Amino acid sequence: MSASTLPQGQQLAVRWYPPAYDIRVEHVAIPKIEHPDDVIVKIKLAGLCGSDLHVYRGHEDVDEPLICGHEFVGEVIELGESFHPGATDRPSLYSTLKIGDKVVAPFTISCGECHFCRIGFTCRCIHSLLFGIPILPGGQAQYVRVPKAGGTLFPIQGPMTQISDTSLILLGDILPTGIFAALQALQHPKLQPTATSVSYPFSGWTPIASPVTTSLQPQDREITLAVVGLGPVGICATVSLLDMLSRAAYSFKVVAIDPNESRRSKMQAVYSAIDEKDRGNGTFAVASIEESKKLVADWTEGIGCNAVLEIVGNNSALTLAYDLVRPFGLISSVGVHQAPPLPFTGRDCYNKNVSFDFGRCPVRALFPIALDLLFRRQDVFGGVGEEKSLVDRIVGFDKAKEMYEVFDKGGCGKVLFDPWM
Ligand SMILES: [Zn+2]
Ligand SMILES: [Zn+2]
Repeated sequence: MSASTLPQGQQLAVRWYPPAYDIRVEHVAIPKIEHPDDVIVKIKLAGLCGSDLHVYRGHEDVDEPLICGHEFVGEVIELGESFHPGATDRPSLYSTLKIGDKVVAPFTISCGECHFCRIGFTCRCIHSLLFGIPILPGGQAQYVRVPKAGGTLFPIQGPMTQISDTSLILLGDILPTGIFAALQALQHPKLQPTATSVSYPFSGWTPIASPVTTSLQPQDREITLAVVGLGPVGICATVSLLDMLSRAAYSFKVVAIDPNESRRSKMQAVYSAIDEKDRGNGTFAVASIEESKKLVADWTEGIGCNAVLEIVGNNSALTLAYDLVRPFGLISSVGVHQAPPLPFTGRDCYNKNVSFDFGRCPVRALFPIALDLLFRRQDVFGGVGEEKSLVDRIVGFDKAKEMYEVFDKGGCGKVLFDPWM
């Protein structure tokens, strides 16, 4: 059924049915404002994400049908009553957002007003809800209702409107999540001696009166990092990591690792697309698991990586991360881990003084950084369907069922749905 033949008040949406592997494109009611803080967004593009596969495969605890998807870019078509020029005591969008504005949203709602939102840990907002669950229909539809929209939405304005929708959709999840993995590593206190050339404990921000006495050797000032997992988020993490290292003028070595040959080729093509002058003062390699262990040992005289970015979310990736990280190193994990216990013991952690940072990306807080990177790195993020592109193809909802099947089997890269195609 095409959009033009739908009954009044109805829209097309991609729905998942329990228990698993059942995707149907159906007509359902166009969402309405339910709360004064709501906004209705007309979807221009919706993403199919690796996280959608958790629901698709029946791995989440859901037993009723839902509208899928948590990545979208669209246009505001209706504002709740909280949106008016006088709402200046709330997040600024309540007084500035207009019908017709182009917007993106994080994959979870964030109010912008609670403790976690105020300090920037927006993914743990006390009102947090993931798009694409039974009580919050997702973005693989023609319209979506956005709760707490003055805190959740991010407007695309000024020069940023030049960025294509196929790029902007990366802001909803994968680009900020990649940036988060890199930021957690580079901002970690344990990396500061290497980053600042000042030995611990004087490298930290805490004012300590004692003079610095040790002098670091050149090899102590070189940062060695690994990225485990080169799906779309892993590629975003690698690109943002290289960008941060280059802009900070750090001396570095980075290895990007995946067992899958086609993912490694994609990573190499993306790296080749980065302008040479922006590649920074370092060495970059793409490697298989076995190659990476040898490479890191050679690079670091056997001591390992300062930090490992783990982007997969399973125990073999965590085991590799633990093997690659050096004593006093950090594992920055943004993979969505499921039920099994972690593959190391308290003793393993003690024996390496290893630090772990786990968890969901505070996407809303990272939007300004992600948008800036997206704008500057259109050489990487700009295209569709090219060898270096993160977005593989754009299809209509008529292909939704097939695309879930193909994507589930690893037969394609990132797919976007155009709900009006
Ligand atoms: Zn996603
Ligand atoms: Zn909040």
